[in-house]
Amino acid sequence: MNKEEFISALKSLNINMTDKVLTDLDTYYKMLISYNSHTNLTRITEENEVYLKHFYDSLTLVKAINLNNQTLLDIGTGAGFPGLVLKIVFPNLKVTLVDSLNKRITFLKSVIEKLNLKDIEAIHTRAEEYVLNKRESFDIVTSRAVANMSILSELCIPFVKIGGYFISMKADSKEELKIAETAIKTLGGVLKDNIIFKLPHDAGTRTLIKIEKIVKTSVKYPRKFNEIKKKPL
Ligand code: SAM
Repeated sequence: MNKEEFISALKSLNINMTDKVLTDLDTYYKMLISYNSHTNLTRITEENEVYLKHFYDSLTLVKAINLNNQTLLDIGTGAGFPGLVLKIVFPNLKVTLVDSLNKRITFLKSVIEKLNLKDIEAIHTRAEEYVLNKRESFDIVTSRAVANMSILSELCIPFVKIGGYFISMKADSKEELKIAETAIKTLGGVLKDNIIFKLPHDAGTRTLIKIEKIVKTSVKYPRKFNEIKKKPL
């Protein structure tokens, strides 16, 4: 997806790109490639592919929710997908990026500083530890390509405020979602939407699983990671 195709695909999502946002994404892309040459962040490096499979893909979250000035937490953000892309394009969001690998957080901090972004933090921690003083604290929690839906639900739903949403960004996930039904309910969520679409250029199917938090999560959850993994809800 070249820049013209990127701009036009985003118009179809009702996102109008400004010159400032395009310049910031270009800087982000260049920093990603430079850092990736010595420290592994992504195997996708070709510019048109990054714009499609990382930048555009991250922004498809708007198919599931209107983004404004909400608080948004991105669990297992890696090189900033989707959280950092969303912050660049929707500057009024208050964004928290979490990843358990410090080299990724170091990279994210350098981009945040270079682009002089405000109301965003990148934190080196694990979801199951960070949640201890951040329960029911965020309007939106996102996560792309981190774990299966049952595990992810236990890691992410405890962070969501009542009335807020956990939106999981996945490839094909019908089976996973079925298996995770009990977990979602146990954690205080309810399935609101399951949006399935295709990326342009035959780049694959994507799914946005939108879960509303309707009941506080019991403090029993999340459990220790090895318990979650060994015995998903
Ligand atoms: N979301 C990014 C993307 O879509 O490109 C990164 C995906 S990468 C496959 C998964 C990331 O989740 C890794 O950076 C890993 O360090 C992080 N991760 C895995 N388990 C985690 C946990 N329990 N808490 C925080 N981060 C976690």
